[in-house]
Amino acid sequence: MKTILRGGCLCGAVRYECPGPLGEASYCHCDDCKRATGGPYTVGVLTPAATLRIVSGQVKSYTSIADSGRKITRQFCPECGAPLFTRAEKCPDLVFIKAGSLDEPQHVKPTCQIWTKCAVPWAYIDETLPRFPESSSS
Ligand SMILES: [Zn+2]
Ligand SMILES: [Zn+2]
Repeated sequence: MKTILRGGCLCGAVRYECPGPLGEASYCHCDDCKRATGGPYTVGVLTPAATLRIVSGQVKSYTSIADSGRKITRQFCPECGAPLFTRAEKCPDLVFIKAGSLDEPQHVKPTCQIWTKCAVPWAYIDETLPRFPESSSS
């Protein structure tokens, strides 16, 4: 049977699914991710944009200019404000799913950390993972 990843927001208004398997995941310590989530970092799971399907509700989008100078769009539930997806102008075919919004987030295995130069001292940093002081690909 094909794996289907499912997830949604805190209030349950927005539900999404996409065919598995889980894509690459990474920690992002950038200041915008701190603001957007209220946490020390965010963990995003890469997914092909074409396969992500919102099955109920609608997301609201907020676009800002990242430190790279390119647009980043964060999408969230307009009812409860839970962050769900991030889309980067530089890779329009991909979506980062907020790992914590998955129904089974325990299966996510982050493989690297980016923007560690912005990491707060109280953020957990896995010493075994490759780190990038800024974006991994810029
Ligand atoms: Zn919600
Ligand atoms: Zn970030």
